[in-house]
Amino acid sequence: MNIHEYQAREILESYGVPVPRAGVASTPDEARKLAVDLGGRVVVKAQVHAGGRGKAGGVKLVETPDEAAAAAEGMLGRNLVTHQTRAGGVPVRQVLVAELTDIADELYLAITLDADARAPMVMASSEGGVEIEEVAANTPERIVRVAADPLIGLSPYHARDVAMKIGIPPDLIRPATTLIMNLYRIFRDKDASLVEINPLVITTDGRVMALDAKIGFEDDALFRHPEIRSLEDPEQNDELEQKAHDAGLAYVKLEGGRVGCMVNGAGLAMATMDITKTAGADPANFLDVGGGAAEDKIAEAFGIIVSDHDVEAILVNLFGGILRCDVAARGIVMGARSTGTQLPLVVAMRGTNAEEGLQILADAGLNVTTVGDLGEAAKALTNVLAIGPAGPNGGTD
Ligand code: GDP
Ligand code: MN
Repeated sequence: MNIHEYQAREILESYGVPVPRAGVASTPDEARKLAVDLGGRVVVKAQVHAGGRGKAGGVKLVETPDEAAAAAEGMLGRNLVTHQTRAGGVPVRQVLVAELTDIADELYLAITLDADARAPMVMASSEGGVEIEEVAANTPERIVRVAADPLIGLSPYHARDVAMKIGIPPDLIRPATTLIMNLYRIFRDKDASLVEINPLVITTDGRVMALDAKIGFEDDALFRHPEIRSLEDPEQNDELEQKAHDAGLAYVKLEGGRVGCMVNGAGLAMATMDITKTAGADPANFLDVGGGAAEDKIAEAFGIIVSDHDVEAILVNLFGGILRCDVAARGIVMGARSTGTQLPLVVAMRGTNAEEGLQILADAGLNVTTVGDLGEAAKALTNVLAIGPAGPNGGTD
């Protein structure tokens, strides 16, 4: 689960991490009043669950309260599209109005869980700011990585080491070390999956400060953080992803593809996306119906895939275990009938009652190709999408 910058900023503040004075506004007039209180020179920042706002017009530095109101007016009630949002962008309902900080240097600091190291990882760079993705892609050696011991935690000497390696000046090593330790406390106490400060700045008057804050939380640990769960803003989520989530289904939207994938199990989802690629196409989404879904759940899942306007064909790849294939097939027929979809379906089913399931689909008069294995599935998908076979690199597009 993600939260807004203004909410993350409050958590930072409560852990003693220095942040600029700020308030949150949902109208231009509120933004103007905040700007007056903050001395006029402020930054107005669209509150969305996505980064990349600076490059997309979602961060405006202004000199007067009137300009702050105008900047807020230009953001509120619209959708902001950044390279991190879905194509249509996400709605802006609030702006953060923060005292303008005079920046001497922009740094990068994050803590995340590193699967390879099996430990929380502090990642930091002297090259912070809006180009951090280019730094990571082109000059990864400029990113310092220090793992924390999962049991002992982050030691102060590790934090100091990070601060020195990213070029924090000697007189600021002590506050920077404290800041890193406090971010680690947040990461651990709140069961975060990511705490990211970009930029962490050194101000012209010689202070270290968090100028932006992104915190992501581990969904499976939210049950012990009701105060975090209450910060959820469903409007920021993809509508279909939210609908699926509410139905207890795992649906993930993928940009740029045209094949909807229905699977049961995460491993099968990966394999199914590979088949889609082999067929020369890209997945538009995948929906994992999980273990013991009933017919109506399957029908609902099918409806969600069909409502994704990018979908031109549907690949169903199920392994019947706890979920029986005949139940899945009845659910698919139910979903296809209630949505009235004409989209071509390619169905691979194995396991419990697979033959019965395939027969139900064949008898239902749907636009369906049933296949026996994944190789056939790729071929059938290529056919229904009327594209050539995959090239040597697994794709023709
Ligand atoms: P993001 O692009 O969504 O990550 O938004 P940020 O909050 O990180 O802001 C983007 C950029 O705007 C920062 O990297 C800074 O260069 C600039 N910026 C943000 N706040 C201030 C500020 O108070 N003073 C100055 N001078 N620049 C700022
Ligand atoms: Mn940022």
